[in-house]
Order: sequence, then structure tokens, then C-alpha cells
Amino acid sequence: MQESTKHVIGGGMPAFVKKTFLPFFLSPLFDILVNRTRLRKPYQISAAGAALHKTLHVADLHCDALISHRNLAQRSRRGHVDLPRLEAGNVALQVFAIVTHAPVREGVTWLPTDLDALTFKLIMQRWPEPAWHSPFERAMHAAQRLHAVEAHADGRFRIIRSAMALEHFLEERRHKPFLTSGILAVEGLHCLEGDIAHLDVLYDAGVRIAGLVHLAGNELGGAAHGRNRGGITPFGEQVARRMEEKRVLIDLAHASPTLIDDVLNMTTQPVIVSHTGLKSVCDNERNLSDAHLKRIAEKGGVVGIGFFPWASGGKDLASFIRSIRRGVELVGAEHIALGSDFDGAVTTPFDASGVALVTDALAREGLPRADIANIMGENVLRLLRRALPEKDAR
Ligand SMILES: [Zn+2]
Repeated sequence: MQESTKHVIGGGMPAFVKKTFLPFFLSPLFDILVNRTRLRKPYQISAAGAALHKTLHVADLHCDALISHRNLAQRSRRGHVDLPRLEAGNVALQVFAIVTHAPVREGVTWLPTDLDALTFKLIMQRWPEPAWHSPFERAMHAAQRLHAVEAHADGRFRIIRSAMALEHFLEERRHKPFLTSGILAVEGLHCLEGDIAHLDVLYDAGVRIAGLVHLAGNELGGAAHGRNRGGITPFGEQVARRMEEKRVLIDLAHASPTLIDDVLNMTTQPVIVSHTGLKSVCDNERNLSDAHLKRIAEKGGVVGIGFFPWASGGKDLASFIRSIRRGVELVGAEHIALGSDFDGAVTTPFDASGVALVTDALAREGLPRADIANIMGENVLRLLRRALPEKDAR
């Protein structure tokens, strides 16, 4: 069943809320309550692990920092991602996903109305009024936020739009190891609002990765959770083909099992699953079956393992490492990657400055250096070199 292309995006917020200091008090609460970390700083990383980590190109396939109220160019003690913490974590490339709809009723079906949890948050953060009501406008505003970060980063941060730009960035980073980069992604193409032409606008804004669905199924296909768990729709097929033409990488995180099959049956290019877990470690509707993991790997794809309990099966780093090891056992280290879900309303063991903990743990497990390098970022970079448009069309 298709959902209407008109998503119910909360009503207006009383003007007095906008004009008060309420946003300043409420926005930080979100990080304090839901974007927490478990380990205390300073993180305990062995000298050997830290030395190895410094030699790696680290890449993370998913964070939701663009809906944070924080200034991402400045270090914060709250939440998970900002440029100084990416720098401290030696993260070369971070995918910044744009969330445009958080339908409460998909998880709480008895609610009498389709509330969108994001509306209140974005109004509190003083996003422009068109973004209060329109998922597409939200996506455009979030993309502009990352461009603003780039503009104010004194050259320390780059948004990557092409394989050539990625190559140049990595070359420059050899001499300037503090450089970090980002790729724009959208989480759920309901933000097209049913108009495929919006894909071109998002592309021009720098979006290079997109999931067809997010928390709810939409007019493109079914989600892993929520009420619509069907396969791909004719509109979804049309969009997926257009994405392949434009070289926008398809992300199957949150896709229903049927949608995953449908996309793998019709596409010719590798896909990613940016932030997920493995059913054979942590069996829930959100996670990937062994069969799907194998099919995605056979097509040259990469799967990012999430740092949060619903994905990895536990609250600690050891659970995450167990999921990584299981993935490697099933498809080899060439198809497994990091998919933190930092700032995605999740509690993670550490923030972006502590990613060396993963390198350290993988080394302690006795994984060969080449496997560690692949998992920590080389797989993502290899796929992006192949998947991104060759040159920047700007
Ligand atoms: Zn997600």
C-alpha cells in the first residue's frame, strides 16, 4: 500500500514559543537525554592501537548531526559529532545524513494522530518556516547547514561531491592529517514529496547518498518497521533508476526485506546499508539477514555496522566488535564498515573523538592490519571512488 505523498508534518507552533528563550533551554536537553555516550573521557586506547589508528583513513557511513542544534564547527561536550571531534578521532570522511520525518505513530500505533517528532525540534532550533511543514525544505536547509560548516571551517573541512574531489582530498590529507570531509545523504526519499525533479535539486545541493525509506514506508517502498513493509513501487523504481544514472548511491538502511530484494534485483551498481546490525547476532526487524548481507557483498556493496544496541546487540564496544567479526566471517573484511548513527537519538559507547577504540579493539582481536584498514574506512573510500560522479559538476 502506498502512503500519500503529502506527509503530515506537524501544525504551526504558537508564535510566543518562537519568541521566547525556550529553544535555548530545550534544544541541549535532546543531546543530554538521547545522544549520550557510555565511556568516560579520556578514552583508554593502547599506544599500539593509537599508533595504528593514525595511519588509517577512517570513514563512517552514517550520522544525524545535521538535525542537532549544535554549531558543528565548534567542539561541544554534548552529542557525538563536530569537526574538532572528527579531527581528534582521525576521521577522514563522515557521511552526514539528513532526517526529514520522525513519525511517532509508526512505533506507537494506538496514537490518534500522525505526530512528527521532528517538527517541534526544528522549530525550537529556529529552522526557517518552510522547513516546518515540508520534508523537501528540511532537506535543503540541512544541506545548507553543512555548507555553512564548510564555509566557516577555514579549509579544514570539505564536502565531497565527486571521485576526483575525494582523490584530491585524500592526497592533501597526506600532508594535512587534520583535514576532515563529509558527504551529504538523505534518510528517506519521502522528502522528494512525490516529485522526481526534486532529486536533481538535492543532487545540486551536494546529496550523493540516499535511502529510499526511513522510519516509515513511503511512496517509494516499504520500511523494515512501521506499517508499510512492502516492496518497491513504480515511483520507487523510477527514482532508483534515476539515482543510478546520476550516481547517487542507494542506501538500504531501514528498507523492508522485500524492498531490499526488489532493489538488488533491479540495480546494476553496488549499494550500501549505512547503519545496521546483523540478524545472526541481534535478531530484530531492523537488522540484515545473512542472505541479504551476502547478496549485497556479491554486488560489491558495503555494510556499516551501527554503534547502538539495537544494531550491535549490546551496549558496549565488545558487542559492536562481535557484530563486525560476524560480518567478516560471513562476507570477508572487504564489505564491512562503520555506520555509527552518531547523533541519531542513540547512546553509543564513545563519540567521534573515540573511534580509535575500535581500531584498538580490532587489533587486540588479532585481525590483520589490512582487514582493520578496510573496515575502518578503506572499503567505504573504495566504493565511493567507484560510485561517485567522476568530476564535480559545479
Ligand atoms: Zn537511521
